[in-house]
Amino acid sequence: MKLSELGEFGFIRRLRQQVSDGPGVRLGIGDDCAALELPPGELLLTTTDLLIEQVHFRRDWTDPRSLGRKSVAVNISDIAAMGGTPRHLFLGLGIPAATEAEELEAFMAGFIEAAAEYGAALVGGDTCRSAGPLLISVTAQGSVPAEELVRRGGARPGDAIYVSGTLGDSALALDRLLAGAEPDPWLARRHHDPTARSGLGRALAAARLPSAMIDLSDGLLADLGHVLEASGVGARVELGLVPLSPAFRAALAAAPGLVELALAGGEDYELLFTLDPRHEPQLQRLAAEVGVPLTRVGRIVSPEEGLQILDLQGHPYRPTRLGFNHFQPGA
Ligand code: ADP
Ligand code: MG
Repeated sequence: MKLSELGEFGFIRRLRQQVSDGPGVRLGIGDDCAALELPPGELLLTTTDLLIEQVHFRRDWTDPRSLGRKSVAVNISDIAAMGGTPRHLFLGLGIPAATEAEELEAFMAGFIEAAAEYGAALVGGDTCRSAGPLLISVTAQGSVPAEELVRRGGARPGDAIYVSGTLGDSALALDRLLAGAEPDPWLARRHHDPTARSGLGRALAAARLPSAMIDLSDGLLADLGHVLEASGVGARVELGLVPLSPAFRAALAAAPGLVELALAGGEDYELLFTLDPRHEPQLQRLAAEVGVPLTRVGRIVSPEEGLQILDLQGHPYRPTRLGFNHFQPGA
């Protein structure tokens, strides 16, 4: 069935049947607005991300269920980076009229499934026809106790710089797809179905450990650069410390230049944070509890030193690119 037969209201009706309201949802889908409650005393966090066909994804490379899951994860990742608890999601869809209803159902199933995994409820949105590509706009809301909010601007010289998980996997999968090759299935999942580090971000904030935090969506160097700018500091990153997956290492052995993907690739959706090194023992205990590997990749230094990357011999390393930037030529 084509979406044109189901219609906007048919689609919304079906959606409403599939969605269950979470805690704090007085009114979800179905009225002019959602009416929502937050835990008393907590700040409301709100973030939006656009995903546009041919710019962010290709429908021939990804399955619709993964696309639904990824649309949730990339937004929840921003809530995690502030130390928040994810609560509400809003979904704007611009849908080409020729879209199969089954494709949309699979997208929604992935979206709703991922939302449930992060404990967030879909509470509203908008659905329109698109005269061009498929357009997905997700807004996520979360909350955080005011004193636990983690920003980009708190890094201080001497702080250790940590990242979660492994870097470059998603970019390596994309690199393979762009070359017309089939990526390793594990790498492909890191690209098409990333996991937001929601539990980790919340646990770090609740323990008041990070001095600054950001999620890695545009690549380590670009996103660390945002922290440095906001904090007014510099950083020294050691290439040899950057955590790489076995699949990434295998590819790297054949093509050493791929290391750039771990520095500037983007779409890792891991967390980067800084902390006073005196808190590192506490951090190790937290990492074990949460079950997410955390790796120190460098140190915050004075602003005059800027951002330095040291290669395995301790010599300055010059990356050829710094990260993803939409309006750069060649993006
Ligand atoms: P309005 O015209 O008042 O904006 P709509 O008919 O567009 O209302 O939407 C009806 C209800 O369905 C609203 O609660 C809206 O938030 C919800 N809704 C519409 N599209 C979506 C969507 N893609 N995802 C989630 N909720 C949606
Ligand atoms: Mg509307």
